[in-house]
Parts: sequence; structure tokens; C-alpha cells
Amino acid sequence: MIKRIHILDCGSLEFDLSYFTWKLNIGKLYRFPVWCTYVEHSEGDILIDSGYNLKNAMKYYAWENPIQTAEQQLENQLKMIGKRPEDIKYVILSHLHFDHCGNNHIFKNAIFYVQKEEMRHAYVPDPFEAIGYSRETFDVPGLQYELINGDKQNFFEGISLVTAPGHSAGLQVPVIDSKEFGKIIIESDVINTRLNLEKKIVGGIHWDSVKSYESMIKIMELQKTTKGVLFFAHDAEWFSSVKKGKDFYT
Ligand SMILES: [Zn+2]
Repeated sequence: MIKRIHILDCGSLEFDLSYFTWKLNIGKLYRFPVWCTYVEHSEGDILIDSGYNLKNAMKYYAWENPIQTAEQQLENQLKMIGKRPEDIKYVILSHLHFDHCGNNHIFKNAIFYVQKEEMRHAYVPDPFEAIGYSRETFDVPGLQYELINGDKQNFFEGISLVTAPGHSAGLQVPVIDSKEFGKIIIESDVINTRLNLEKKIVGGIHWDSVKSYESMIKIMELQKTTKGVLFFAHDAEWFSSVKKGKDFYT
């Protein structure tokens, strides 16, 4: 059973908006949030994605101008809600891009759930998709991964996983049952921003542009049929309006 849902602020990155809106908005710089989700659950503490790690980002992605304060480091975000990394029992990874799995190394006690296809592509990416993956973020000795295959209804009570490949090959969208909103759909780069949603624009970073479009439509339809809410992965305006840190959703 889901008790609380916290959004944890992991800092921000910046790049040309056309990375989110394929072939559109070229030359417009866009600073966007990176965040992850903590779920207090009767089966144990669950984290969805682990944000980016400043050291790794400065080493490989300095061109994205990372800004992460000490408070925005994931350990400190967890501390703010009274949790330590060792308390986290399960980590669900939407995909293995560096800004979604950058702090995996701090969760020594956790079991990590990722789609098998995603893991394969992370290790051997095609050249055009290699930019998003940073091996040292996910290939950490001692981490316990469990590979999953396809959609999972109620993987944990009240949390389902919906496959939505395209942005990356094995992307999965966690869908959380909430009392306040019905379904919370953690879209995880399938859509990226509200602008993508409104104009049905495919993201500029993708493994397969057609699949990326189809998955975007799939997730939009899921939102419509369930009357749920979309939590945008990287929308700065949307992020400024959500509850974060100690404030939580139920
Ligand atoms: Zn991504």
C-alpha cells in the first residue's frame, strides 16, 4: 500500500530546447529540472530513478551546465524526509540515462528493477544513442539488478510499469495509484515537457523516432482513459508548481 509520494529535487541541467523538441526551437537554451520519486510503501521504501550525480555530470556532461546544490544531492534530499540511502529497499529505473540512474551507487541494500532491453542497450548503445548512457552510473560492482521483461501490472501494490520504448530502447513508465490524483504517470522522458504534449512533438533525443512518437501517444491515451495526471520529467514551469521535499502527495 502506498503511504506517501515525495518528489525529490536533484538539481538542473541546461541544453538547447531542440533536444526536447526535435528540430524545433533550435538555438533556444532551456534549463530543466532533474528529479526522482520516493514512495513510502508497506512493502518497503521505494525510489523511482536516482537523478544525476554531480561528479559524473561534470566529467562527461559539463556542456549541460549542471547546477546541483548540496541540498539537492540525493543523500540530502532523502535526509530532508528522514531517510538514509540504506533504507531504500527497491529502486525502479525508468531507463539508464545518466540523469535517471546517476546515484545508483549509494543504494547498496536495494534491488534495482530495469527492463532487460534497456540494460542491453546501455552496455552496447548504437552510436547515436550512446550520448545518454554513462557506464559508471549503472555498472557499479555489488549492485543487485533484476531484469524485467514487458509491462507489469501492480508490480508493487499500486505501482505498475508500462513499457514505452523510443526515447530509449527499454524505457518503462511507472504509474502510481494516488488518493489525490488517481493515477500519477511518471512519464520519464517519453514526453519531457508540456510543450511536447500540447503539440505532440517527439523528443530530440531518441533511439527510434517512430517508436518514440507511438509511445508518446500511448502514454497520452493512458492519461486520458485513466483520467490520471502526468508528472513531466523535465518541464521547468511544471516543476516549479509541484510539491517537493518534505511536502508530499498521497
Ligand atoms: Zn532519458
